[in-house]
Amino acid sequence: MNNFSLENNNYIDIINDFRNLIDFINYNDVLIEKMFHIFEKHFNFEIAGIFFNSPDIYGINTLNLLIKNKNNNIQSIEEKFFNHMSEFKQIIKIKSNIIQSGINNSNNKNFENELITPFLFQNKLLGGICIISENEILKTDLNTYNFLINELLSIFKLKYLYSEQIFKSSVDGLTGLYNRHQFDINLNQEFNRSQRYKTPFTVAMIDIDHFKNINDTYGHQFGDFVLKEISQIIQNTFRKTDIVFRYGGEEIAIIMPETTSKKALLPLEKLRDKISKHNFNSKNVTISIGVADFNNDIKSSTEILKKADKMLYSAKENGRNQIKVFLP
Ligand code: GH3
Ligand code: MG
Ligand code: MG
Repeated sequence: MNNFSLENNNYIDIINDFRNLIDFINYNDVLIEKMFHIFEKHFNFEIAGIFFNSPDIYGINTLNLLIKNKNNNIQSIEEKFFNHMSEFKQIIKIKSNIIQSGINNSNNKNFENELITPFLFQNKLLGGICIISENEILKTDLNTYNFLINELLSIFKLKYLYSEQIFKSSVDGLTGLYNRHQFDINLNQEFNRSQRYKTPFTVAMIDIDHFKNINDTYGHQFGDFVLKEISQIIQNTFRKTDIVFRYGGEEIAIIMPETTSKKALLPLEKLRDKISKHNFNSKNVTISIGVADFNNDIKSSTEILKKADKMLYSAKENGRNQIKVFLP
């Protein structure tokens, strides 16, 4: 049993702090900022790290660091952290926030004290925290610390279960691709990003040719098989940063960030060719593709979609099994 006592204000404080955190379970930036704030109350640290094992839609995991001194070597912190959690080797991005500029510091500091805690649930690593300091780490007693760690574990569990739900609601059951709902979210996101940073992005709309005939001739089950197989091929053809969605029945959309339609044409042409030669249980299937990219004349995210759709229609009109690109 913990020495839980209502007279101990520390516990009440911790419970209140964590109760407030739950409101921000889906807002990573706020959640992490507030967690760091709680750390500051209970720990002395030079560097603190928080990692949630839930990648974003681009498959990127982020190790969030709060560093009080800019001279600390971030790479060595990363190594230290992930040495304790070998499952996390796929970490791609480190987001660090340096809150003080260094005075009287050297690069080769030896930190005597470090606290690295992985959080586990049903044999799955949910994430972890690290606290690194030159001095004694705990500001509170060991019981308070254990209490705090248990509360943190609850947040990690909640975050994990929540992100599982979010993932399920954004993915199409048949193909495993992201669904239409997620497409709308990402299209808007890319549009806003392109407008702000003046970077390109491309939308490709793919439609299976004569799919109704395929269903009518070989059965709906075979149609489903074709849809799944094509989805798989598309996912294997494109980069991890290009996102593939099931837009509707037999229509698949790809959003390609940082890519002009001219550049997108290369992998799209490879895809069209690959599918036309693919053996679908000894049957042939083809696709048509319409492509449009972001440019300064485009005023809304739906406009780019309309242009890609128009190009798809034109590829169908022109005989199918081909790509048409919108040229402004
Ligand atoms: P086009 O070349 O012009 O695209 O002709 P199409 O026959 O592919 O186009 P149409 O829009 O006439 O038909 C699409 C068909 O896709 C009709 C619909 O039953 C089928 N379909 C939509 N979703 C699914 C699905 O999940 N599984 C199967 N098997 N068929 C589906
Ligand atoms: Mg269609
Ligand atoms: Mg079709």
